[in-house]
Order: sequence, then C-alpha cells, then structure tokens
Amino acid sequence: MKTLHPEVTKFLEAKPISLFVAGNWRHAIGGATLEVRDPGSGRVIGAVFAGDSTDIDLAVKAAEKAFRTTDWARLPANERAVFLHRLADLIDKHREILAQLESLDVGKPLAAASTIDIPNVAQTLRYFADLSVHVRRAEPIAVSGYEARKVRFPYGVCAFIFPWNFPLLLVGWGIAPALAAGNTVVIKPAEDTPLSTLYFCKLVQEAGIPAGVVNVVTGLGETAGAALAKHPAIKRMSFTGSPEVGRLVGTACGHNLVPAKLELGGKGAAVVFDDVDVEATADALVAALTFNTGQVCCTATRWIIHQRIFGQFVSRAVEKLRSVTIGHGMEPDTQMGPLISEKQRRRVLGYLERGALQGAKFLLEGGPATVPNHPDGYYVKPALMTGAIDNICWREEIFGPVAFVVEFKDESEAIALANSTDYGLANSVWSNDLERANRVAEAMVAGNSWINGHNLFPHGVPYGGCNLSGCGGGVLSPETYLDYLRVQSVVRPR
Ligand code: NAD
Repeated sequence: MKTLHPEVTKFLEAKPISLFVAGNWRHAIGGATLEVRDPGSGRVIGAVFAGDSTDIDLAVKAAEKAFRTTDWARLPANERAVFLHRLADLIDKHREILAQLESLDVGKPLAAASTIDIPNVAQTLRYFADLSVHVRRAEPIAVSGYEARKVRFPYGVCAFIFPWNFPLLLVGWGIAPALAAGNTVVIKPAEDTPLSTLYFCKLVQEAGIPAGVVNVVTGLGETAGAALAKHPAIKRMSFTGSPEVGRLVGTACGHNLVPAKLELGGKGAAVVFDDVDVEATADALVAALTFNTGQVCCTATRWIIHQRIFGQFVSRAVEKLRSVTIGHGMEPDTQMGPLISEKQRRRVLGYLERGALQGAKFLLEGGPATVPNHPDGYYVKPALMTGAIDNICWREEIFGPVAFVVEFKDESEAIALANSTDYGLANSVWSNDLERANRVAEAMVAGNSWINGHNLFPHGVPYGGCNLSGCGGGVLSPETYLDYLRVQSVVRPR
C-alpha cells in the first residue's frame, strides 16, 4: 500500500473540510456534514460540509460580486491566461497529492489518477488559456448602410454540477473554458468525491486568482445541487451526470431561461470487423471496459463483433477479463479498483440479476469480488453477457465493468445494432479498411465516433452527446470556449 503524502494526511484531518466561498474557507451555515469514504476499504477517511441553499446563495453572490468588482472579467485574455497557466503549474507541482486524494476518494488506481486525471486538468487549463488569447472578442460585420460589429462578453456566474467518476478532470473540462472567457464559477462536486476539488481551491488561492472567482459548495444533490440549478442569478449551467438528474437540472434552468449544457450518460458500442487483429482489439476493449471500473460515460459496453471472429474474440476477451488484477487503488499492482459505493455495487449486481432473468447468458459471470485485507470494499468482477438486444443490460447504462456482446453478419446490420439505443454519446469502429471504418463512423448516431480506439479525448476536438446523452454543446473544443461568451451586436446607421 502506498504511504500517504503528509499533506494528504493533514488535509483529511480537518473534519469537516470547509467550503470555499468568496476566497474564504468557511463552515456551512447549517453545520451539517457528510462522511467521505474510501471505496476500497469502505472506511470513513474524512468529512466535508453538507452545504444547503443558504450556502449556495452566498457562493452565487460571491461569484456575482467577483464578476462585478474584481478585474477578472475585464482583464485582457493574455493576462487572465497567466493566472490559468500558474494554476496549471501548481497542479503539476501538487500532482502526487491530488492523485492520492483522487485515488482514495474514487478508488481508481493511483497510477491512473497520477498519469491521466491530474495531468489532464493542467492540460485543459493550458489549452483554454492559450486558445483564449487567439479568439477575437470584437469582429466587424460587413452590412450596407450600417457600421456594425459583434462583441463577445463573459456571461457572469456560471454554475457547475459534477459526478463522481472523474472529479477533478471534469472540473478542468468544465470550468477552464468558463474562466478563460472571464466568467466566475460556483461548483457543486459529487457528494461521494469532494476531496480533490476542495484541495484544488488551495491552488486557486495560491495562483492569486481573485477571491470569489472560484467557489465550491459541497453537499447533497437534492439540496445543494437543486439550489444551484434553480438559483435565479446564475447565467449558465453545466451539468455532468445521469439523464434522470440532467432532466431535473434542465427543467430548473428552463424555468429561469438559463442556458444549460447537459453532459449525460451513455451506452457506447464498439463495432469490430473481421479484418482486425482480433486479440489486440479484444485487449483494447477489455482495457476500455475495466478503465475506472467501467464507470466511464462513453466506454464501450455493447460489443458488436463480426460473426467470423466472434468465438475467437470472446475467448480472448474472457481470458483477459479474468486476468485483471482487482484491488485497492493505492496498491501498486491494482489494474481495476472498486466501484464508488455500496449503492453503485448493488446497482451493478442488480443489473446482472435482471439481465439473467430476461434471458441473457453469461460468457463471464462477474459478481462480487473479494480483495484480501479489504473485505468491506465495493469490489465487483468484470462480466460479459450475450443474448437478445431487448435485454435490459443491452439497453440501459450499468456504469460498471459489464459488456454485452452480440454478433453481426454485414455492415448495415452492425450500424443498426450500434444505433439501437436511446443514448448517443460515443461509439467506435474497428477495421483495417479505413474507407469502411470512416463510413461506419459517420453512420453511427452519437456525439463522438472513434476509429481503431476507444475513449479518445484530444484537446481541441469537441466531446459531447446527443439524444439521452445530452445537449448544449459539449466540452473540450474552441466551440466550448465560445459557449462561455455571450454575443452582443453594436450597430450604427451610416
Ligand atoms: P448523478 O446524476 O446521480 O449526480 C451527478 C451530480 O448531480 C452530483 O453532484 C449530484 O449530487 C447532483 N445531483 C443529484 N441530484 C440532484 C438534483 N436533484 N439537482 C441537482 N443536482 C443533483 O450522476 P452520478 O451517479 O454522480 O454520475 C454518473 C452519471 O454521470 C452516469 O450517467 C454517467 O454516464 C454520467 N457522466 C457523464 C459524462 C459526460 O461527459 N457525458 C461524464 C461523466 C459522467
């Protein structure tokens, strides 16, 4: 087991860890608290405040005041970018601390937190800081009889509600474009994973970002989250989470006529043709399925395999899934950690039961996993199922290491199977025939199509969903940055 960094131990000693509002660390007005558990051991490792509508109101007011009274919104983009670069450097410098907090809080392998999640936050800040310098804020419009231009301004207070699977990485994806554009932000992290976001606020302070520009209120979704979504003073909302809660947040924002970005769940397909290296492709899809214990919105959980290679593909996948090392995130050998909570474990196991009742067959059984020294961790084994596509495990997002595999005979059947879903987040196609791969990539209806890879998120490429997977523009691209600037036209008759 990796020894904890002394700074991590010290940070967790504050029970509860305070909210970060208006540049101050403060208690929730109501004083209620939430336990923070290590999902790998089931043990309580810390506590945070359970903020409510009063705390949310204070945070929104602090963000509003910072927008009006600090220089943040009015700084030239290159000067604001300096702060974001400084913050990115601080994240790199504190990478080990942040990675340990993320691993402890989410259960993910420390190596993944330290090489993927945390560096990605710094990269996202740098990407949007650099982009902001090159986007013109004022552009003349050629119309006869008028002198006209459009000018872009930040909106004001932007609200963010995040899920628990990639807590700090998603904070980066969410707030970096908003901050680079000159907005101020209020963040409500997931109740299960508040730690890295709170530690991040220490770095925000150290970077010299003005008080009130970044505010974090921890708390429950139904109280703090709901209060933020319906707050009349927010100018934009970005929600990442389940479609069920996304609908509630969208409804609250619709009531106030506040634009909302909704980044929701998925049920990604991987279409594998018979001209691939079967073993390498099976290995890649096993790696995608077990990444973050399958708690990845866009991962491939519906495997659509050409009938000629189906048997070979399945036996390789089963062999690889069986050999995955399941363990505590802080153990160096761990390839797959626990699920986030006992609730999530019950959800995953419940899906396996319901899928079986509806006639699905198990190619690999899955079920609870026991890990030595951690009898109370929330561990499950990967599962591979097959059967008819009206099965609940083909249709619904399980959010665990469970794939449903079916075979196809030709391209049109493969496309129909990939599109037989209410979701529309991300799919992949695997083939050495690039003409065919590109054709299929365009025919699969979703925000993202990947060729010969899965879970690909380069900065600069838009990532978002359609249908049940979300709406409102997505993340990670120049368009995301523009989403955080309102357009104002200025017109004068000549
Ligand atoms: P969730 O919807 O249960 O919770 C997400 C957030 O919403 C949490 O912070 C929660 O406290 C808050 N919340 C809960 N009830 C609320 C309410 N009534 N009003 C306002 N906020 C409320 O999702 P989760 O279980 O934390 O995360 C898993 C889901 O997130 C999956 O569906 C996954 O696919 C999705 N997800 C999507 C993306 C994406 O980019 N599309 C990324 C990561 C996760």
